[in-house]
Amino acid sequence: MVETFHNYINGEWVGGETFENRNPARISELAGLHVKGSPADVTRAATAAAAAFPEWSAMPAPARGNLLFKVADLLEARLEQLAADMTREEGKTLAESRGEVRRSINIFRYFAGEGSRMSGVLTPSERVRVHTFAFRKPLGVVGLVTPWNFPSAIPAWKLAPALIAGNTVILKPASAAPLSAWRIVEACHQAGIPKGVVNFIAGSGAALGEALVDVPELKAISFTGSCSVGHWLHERASRRRLRIQLEMGGKNPTIVLADADFNLAVENTVNAAFFSTGQKCTATSRVIVEDTIHDRFVEALVERTRNLRVGDGMKPGVEIGPAIDAAQLQTDLDYIHIAKQECGAPLCGGNRLAGGEYDQGYFVEPTVFAGVTSNMRLAQEEVFGPVLAVMRARDFEDALKIANEVPLGLAASIQTTNVSRVFDYLQKIDAGLVTVNLPSAGVEYQLPFGGTKDSSFGPKEQGPAALEFYTDYKTVYLKY
Ligand code: NAP
Ligand code: MG
Repeated sequence: MVETFHNYINGEWVGGETFENRNPARISELAGLHVKGSPADVTRAATAAAAAFPEWSAMPAPARGNLLFKVADLLEARLEQLAADMTREEGKTLAESRGEVRRSINIFRYFAGEGSRMSGVLTPSERVRVHTFAFRKPLGVVGLVTPWNFPSAIPAWKLAPALIAGNTVILKPASAAPLSAWRIVEACHQAGIPKGVVNFIAGSGAALGEALVDVPELKAISFTGSCSVGHWLHERASRRRLRIQLEMGGKNPTIVLADADFNLAVENTVNAAFFSTGQKCTATSRVIVEDTIHDRFVEALVERTRNLRVGDGMKPGVEIGPAIDAAQLQTDLDYIHIAKQECGAPLCGGNRLAGGEYDQGYFVEPTVFAGVTSNMRLAQEEVFGPVLAVMRARDFEDALKIANEVPLGLAASIQTTNVSRVFDYLQKIDAGLVTVNLPSAGVEYQLPFGGTKDSSFGPKEQGPAALEFYTDYKTVYLKY
C-alpha cells in the first residue's frame, strides 16, 4: 500500500493530483506519492501565512521555542522510521540518514533555545538621559526552497530559525525527496504550531518557484540548490527587492601536503569524495596532492576506493548508495565520459554498476581520475557524484593556487601537520567552510554555514548567523 502525502496549507492537508517519490536503490519501489501543488496553492498559502503572522510574531519567542522543542521531541520519538524514510527516498545509507535526522532534531533544539536569547544591540547613547537599543523583528512571510541531498537537515535549518524569529513560512521541498521535509511539517502540525504558520507545497520547482518569487505577501526567500536555479531566482527576486539568500554548488578541494598524517589523509579524502555518493555540496571533488607523495598517495587512495561497498543503503555494511535519479546518474556518466577524453582512463571506477541488485537502481562506481589540470572541465564544473579529480601540485603555494582556480568557493580541506601552513591556508583559501585534518564535508549546526564566490549569496545559515537573514533590526532612541 503506497501512502499519499498531502500538501499542508493553512493548517489543513490538501489533496490533489500526485507525483511519485521513487527509491533510487530500487526503482520499482515507491517511497510515497506526493500531491503536486499549483501556483494557486502558493497564493492560498501566502494568504494564510500573512494572516497568521500578526499572532505568531506577537507570541513571546520563548513560547515559540517551546513549540520547537516539541517538534524536536516528536522527530526524536520516530527517528528510526524517519531515517528509513530518508534512505528509501534519497538512497544514502541508513547510518547517514540516522545522523541527518539527529542533526534536524539538534537544529530544532538549538533554535528553540534561541527563543530565550534573541539578542539585539544595547549600547550607551552619546546624549544625556537617552537610552538606545535595537531589537530584532521578523520579516513576515518567507519562502524556503530546498534540494534533495539533505532532505531533512536543510529544511530544518531554514524552518527552525525562520519560525523562532516569528516569521511564517511556505516550504517547497525538492521533488526527488519530499518526504523527509514532509515529516518535519507533520511534526510541526502535531506539536500544535498554529494554522498558517507553516505551509508545505510539493511539486515542480519551475512552476511553483515562479509563483513563489512573485507572490505579493512574500518578504524573503531562502534557497539551497544549483547555481542555475539560484541565479534565476536572484534575478527575479531582485526586481522586487526581495531579501534573498542562496546556497549553491561547490568544487571543493582537499589539499594533501607531504607532511600530512598519510593514512588519515587518505581516509578523509575518500570519506569526503564518496560518502553520500559524492552528493554533498561540501564533498571533495578535487584532491590536490604535493608532488613528493603524489604517487604513493594516489596508490593508497585507489586501493581504498576500490574497497568501498556500493549498494542499497538499507543493507548493513553498505558505504555508498545510488545516485538520486536517472538524470543525476546520466550527469555522472557524462562527466566520466568528458574526463576520459580530457585525461585518459580513470584509475578506478568509471562505469554504471550492473548485474544483480545493481540493475534495480542508479548505481555508479566510485571513480578516480589522475592528471587533472585546472583547464579541464572536470576541475571546474560540479558533478555532484562520486567522481574525484586528482591534481598534482609542486608545493604548498602551488596547491593553494590550484585550489583557488575555480569560480566556486563553498568548502575546502587541508591535510598537514605544519601549523604555519594551516594558518596561511586559513587566510588565503577562497571558501566559506574550511577544515583541517578532517573531511571537507561534515558541518555542525551551531556555527555559520555558507560559501563565498559563486557558491553563495547573502547572509550565512545556521548558528547565530541564521537570525541575520530571518530578522530585521528596529533601532530605538528613547529620551527619559
Ligand atoms: P536544484 O535543481 O536547483 O533544485 C533545488 C530546489 O529548487 C528544488 O526544490 C527544485 O524543485 C527547486 N527549483 C527548481 N527550479 C526552480 C525554479 N525555477 N524556481 C524555484 N525553485 C526551483 O538543485 P538540486 O538538484 O535539488 O540539488 C543539487 C544542487 O544543490 C547542487 O548544485 C548542490 O551543490 C546544491 N546544494 C548546495 C548546498 C549548499 O548549502 N551550498 C547544499 C546542498 C545542495 P524540483 O525538485 O521540483 O526541481
Ligand atoms: Mg526519491
